[in-house]
Amino acid sequence: MDNIDNSSGSKGLTDGFGRSFPYLRLSITDVCNFRCDYCLPNGYQGCKKADFLSIDEIKRLVNVFAELGTNKIRITGGEPTVRKDFTKIAQLISSHSSISTTAFTTNGYRLAQNAKIWRNAGIDNINISIDSLNKERFFQITGHDRLSEILKGIDAAINVGFEKVKINVVLLKGVNDGEVNDYLSWAKSSPISIRFIELMQTGDNQQYFQKYHTSAITISDELIKTGWTLRKRNFNAGPAQEYIHKDYQGSVGIISPYSKDFCKSCNRLRITSNGDLRLCLFGSQGVSLRHLLQSDEQKHLLIKLISSQLAFKCSSHFLALGDTGITPNLASIGG
Ligand code: SAM
Ligand code: SF4
Repeated sequence: MDNIDNSSGSKGLTDGFGRSFPYLRLSITDVCNFRCDYCLPNGYQGCKKADFLSIDEIKRLVNVFAELGTNKIRITGGEPTVRKDFTKIAQLISSHSSISTTAFTTNGYRLAQNAKIWRNAGIDNINISIDSLNKERFFQITGHDRLSEILKGIDAAINVGFEKVKINVVLLKGVNDGEVNDYLSWAKSSPISIRFIELMQTGDNQQYFQKYHTSAITISDELIKTGWTLRKRNFNAGPAQEYIHKDYQGSVGIISPYSKDFCKSCNRLRITSNGDLRLCLFGSQGVSLRHLLQSDEQKHLLIKLISSQLAFKCSSHFLALGDTGITPNLASIGG
């Protein structure tokens, strides 16, 4: 994609295709309390006492990635806010002098009560997943009748001044794709950014994917026809093509992982909740960093290991060939 502002891009970690990686997605747990149809339809099946990265391990990771040019970290999961030390983790990330943007992605179930606490912890941006604005449909997709409390949480997030409040909507054919105009109406009078995300195939959801995947291209075409314009991407921005319109307070982002050239602008690396480095959401391998997160003295070995891995980053994923790599569902890696 050629609408990327790379002027202040990270020169730290680069791969063989000229891409740099200022953006880290850090999963802090696989556990989730929701049962989204496309992700964990039977709920979280793993061990709730699983041994996820500790605060000390996260601190060492953040220090090393910051040294390697990372300036934006998104905390994700599973549902990151199920961790009791979520606020502490957010604080430790946002207080690092090299991290200019701390973000997190949540299903929003604790947002109404905690928006202020989390903003005060230094979090800048928040993404909340809402796959339907219809109460019954929201329940049908997520297994939780919590739409109205999550919407209250979003109002709270706007009121306490998060810099960006984004709403993630996974497009599902015949389920919520008729709601696009409802989301646009919301963005008309609210300073939110709606992210329409194409459903991605993962190891566990192949039949679901065949049934419900739909392209987001018709939405982009419609936006252009109705006066929306494409905004230039920041060097550490997420994967969305973002559109703005003079009559709307909010904006709209389209995330189409199946589109040609999607991976050309990849600027992200991922760490799983157990401390594996993943070069791609749909890669075929991960490398464990955890043994090098046990003491500060291991820093140079850790830097060496991370840097050497970049040589293995592929130019693109192979989703179009049905190859979903080792990712059973996005909760397991951090979407
Ligand atoms: N639990 C949090 C949430 O739902 O926002 C954070 C983790 S969730 C894995 C992160 C994002 O990935 C959510 O917006 C979710 O809707 C999206 N997601 C999960 N599985 C997906 C899939 N198969 N295709 C596209 N998006 C997916
Ligand atoms: Fe949980 Fe998020 Fe997956 Fe839904 S999308 S099941 S909220 S991890």
